[in-house]
Amino acid sequence: MVRPKKIPQRMCVGCGEMKEKRALIRVVRTPDGQVVLDTTGKKSGRGAYLCPNHQCLNKAVKAKRLEKALRHPVAPEIIETLLTQIGDG
Ligand SMILES: [Zn+2]
Repeated sequence: MVRPKKIPQRMCVGCGEMKEKRALIRVVRTPDGQVVLDTTGKKSGRGAYLCPNHQCLNKAVKAKRLEKALRHPVAPEIIETLLTQIGDG
C-alpha cells in the first residue's frame, strides 16, 4: 500500500479550514512584541496562519482569533498593514 505523501497542513485562523502550509500566510509575533507578516516562513516567534485574503484576516480579527493565536493584541494599524501586504486574492 502506498501512503500519500504527508503535506504539512495548518489551520487558517479566519475560516478554520486546514490547508497546505505553503498555501497560507504566516503572521508572527516576534520576540520583541511586533506583529508582522512572515513572508519567508522562517521568522521566529509565535505564529498564526491565514488564507491570503482579506476575508479571512478580517474574520480572524473580528473573532479575536488572531490575537488569541498570537497571544498578543493586534493594533488596528497592524491590521491595515497586513491587509495592504496581503493584497486581495
Ligand atoms: Zn481562511
